[in-house]
Amino acid sequence: MSINYARAAGADFAAMRVASSHVTRQPSARPRLDDEIDKLAKTLSEDVTIAAERSQSARAAKAAAKVKEAANAWVAIHRRRFQADGTGNNEASAREIDDVDQLSNVVNQQIELLVNYTAGDGFLFRQRALAAIKRDLQLNVVALTVALLLSGLFSWLLARRIIGPVAIASKAASLQSRRALELDLREAMDKDEFTLFYQPIYDLRMDRISGFEALLRWPHPKRGLVPPDQFIPIAEDIGLITPLGEWVLNRACEQAAGWPSELKIAVNVSATQIRDPRFAEVIANALDASTLAPHRLELEITESVLLGNSAETVATLHKLKAQGLSIALDDFGTGYSSLSYLRSFPFDKLKIDQSFVRDATATNGSKLIVRAITSLGRSLGITITAEGVETIEQLDQIRAEGCNEAQGFLFSRPVPATEIASTILNLRGGLARRHLSGAMTG
Ligand code: C2E
Ligand code: MG
Ligand code: MG
Repeated sequence: MSINYARAAGADFAAMRVASSHVTRQPSARPRLDDEIDKLAKTLSEDVTIAAERSQSARAAKAAAKVKEAANAWVAIHRRRFQADGTGNNEASAREIDDVDQLSNVVNQQIELLVNYTAGDGFLFRQRALAAIKRDLQLNVVALTVALLLSGLFSWLLARRIIGPVAIASKAASLQSRRALELDLREAMDKDEFTLFYQPIYDLRMDRISGFEALLRWPHPKRGLVPPDQFIPIAEDIGLITPLGEWVLNRACEQAAGWPSELKIAVNVSATQIRDPRFAEVIANALDASTLAPHRLELEITESVLLGNSAETVATLHKLKAQGLSIALDDFGTGYSSLSYLRSFPFDKLKIDQSFVRDATATNGSKLIVRAITSLGRSLGITITAEGVETIEQLDQIRAEGCNEAQGFLFSRPVPATEIASTILNLRGGLARRHLSGAMTG
């Protein structure tokens, strides 16, 4: 630290004065003492130089120069004083003693100033250094932030260049595959490639099959058996659902006409089909051509059919109901489930969506929903069918809640028309018998 060197200069000068006083008392030792004073003067000069340099201030440099100047003058007078007779005890020397004392005071004052300046400057220096560190830190933070922003921008640009084309390519690929499916669908329609599977609906009170639901299948030569969820929305988009739905109605009625007369046939119809002005006529033609009694035909619609509550749609449903058909609300609970739909049309049946049935044995929420729908149906005089029953536990649960009918893999998967007879036989005499025979043969 610079102040230490300033203080050392003070000690140097004190030693110089002590040596000078020894010359007075021991003139014989003067050469050695002069030599010592010269060495001390040199050290003092070096000390004040270092103190000034380290304090890095103009005022300290000025004080250091004055210390050196006063110290040199002091050494010069010290020499002159002893040159006359070697003792310093003469008249000329007496004058110079005063000068030496005065100069000693000057040297001490300047050293004191230097000590004070270096102390203050050291403090200022530290302050400046701290400020510089703080500034550097702030600059580093700013530089880091800018670097991060730039790297983010760079990554974004890179991602746009890479992900953008990939996304466009994958969109193009999915558009292409959809286009291919559309072409295949039209071709399948022309070639009459569709078929119907049937799934039994089981009456829990009578303990027998009450009917079958017709479920559309597309056995594609390359794609395999395409499920309806995959192609019906496309058929709706490209306007194919109306002729396809008409084909389903005709084929289902034709099949059902050959079954025992107590069995009903349920057919799913989409919103587009019902909104078609020819719909009532299509139904009438299907019944006429198959000679199926209207009370054996049930139409399954979803809430989407009633969206917007179109007066024409409701009028069509009323007309069909008046002709003896029954109308079921499918997938109940999954759509908007507005109870006003139940008021806008007197449905014959509510089919509780399989998601609630599946969870009815696991979560309390689903169990309570099944209970609420069942009691609603009971109050309104509507048949309640539970869809997607897969286990005995689920069957016990929905039976306990008071559902009238059940449908699901527990009874039978959807089967082709050729397996209708065996399915009826299999379920005749109740589920217990079927399981017993399954256990015996299995
Ligand atoms: P949906 O009318 O609710 O038919 C019931 C669906 O649940 C059928 O699927 C059936 O195979 C399936 N299912 C029945 N029991 C179980 C079970 O225990 N567990 C499970 N996991 N599933 C079960 P699918 O045949 O794939 O039909 C899907 C949907 O496609 C139908 O739902 C219906 O909305 C629509 N759909 C089917 N055929 C036609 C049709 O001819 N016309 C129209 N517009 N839609 C149809
Ligand atoms: Mg259905
Ligand atoms: Mg359903």
